[in-house]
Amino acid sequence: MRALNAASGWRANVPGMSQHAKGTRQHTIGAPLRGRGILAEREHDPYRDRGKPPEPSACPDCGVVFHDGRWQWLTAPPEAHPQMCPACRRVRDRFPAGFVTLEGEFFHAHRGEVMNLVHSHARHVREEHPLQRLMEVEDRQDGSCVVTTTDPHLARGLGEAIRHAWRGDLAFHYEQGQTLLRVHWRR
Ligand SMILES: [Zn+2]
Repeated sequence: MRALNAASGWRANVPGMSQHAKGTRQHTIGAPLRGRGILAEREHDPYRDRGKPPEPSACPDCGVVFHDGRWQWLTAPPEAHPQMCPACRRVRDRFPAGFVTLEGEFFHAHRGEVMNLVHSHARHVREEHPLQRLMEVEDRQDGSCVVTTTDPHLARGLGEAIRHAWRGDLAFHYEQGQTLLRVHWRR
C-alpha cells in the first residue's frame, strides 16, 4: 500500500529487467502454490489492504504488536487484542510476496556464502521492518535456489545485497500491481 506506492519509481532504474524478466523457470518456482489460484491477478495486496486492527493488537504467532498504526517489535500489553499479523498470515497461507531465484556456476560454487548473506540481511531487515521476513528456502535439483519472502521489498533488498557483494546479473519483475516481485540473480 503506502510504501509500495512510494516505491513505484523503482522499476525505471533496474537495468536488464525486461531482458531477464521473462525467465523460463517462473512457472516452476513456488511449486507448492500452484493449483491454488494464488497466481491469479490481484490489484491489491490482500494482506495489507484489510482494515487496520484495533490497538493494541498482538500476533499470537510471532508476538509483533500493532501500535501507532503499524506493526512493531514491542512487548505486548496484557489487554492486547490477538490478531495474526500480515507476515504470519502469508506464512500460514504459503502465499509469498517475493521470490528470489539464485542460480549460476558462481552461485553453485559459493552457495554457502551467498546464503549466509541472505539470512543475515533478512535478520537485519526483520528487526527494522517486522513484516518483511524470509519464508522458505527451496533448493532445486538444477542447483539453483528459490527464496520466498513475505514482502516484495525484502526480495528486492536481497537481490541488491547479493549483487553488491558479488556483482552478477540481477533482474526484477513486478506482478499483481507490484504486490509481488520476482527477483532473479545469476552468476
Ligand atoms: Zn505474526
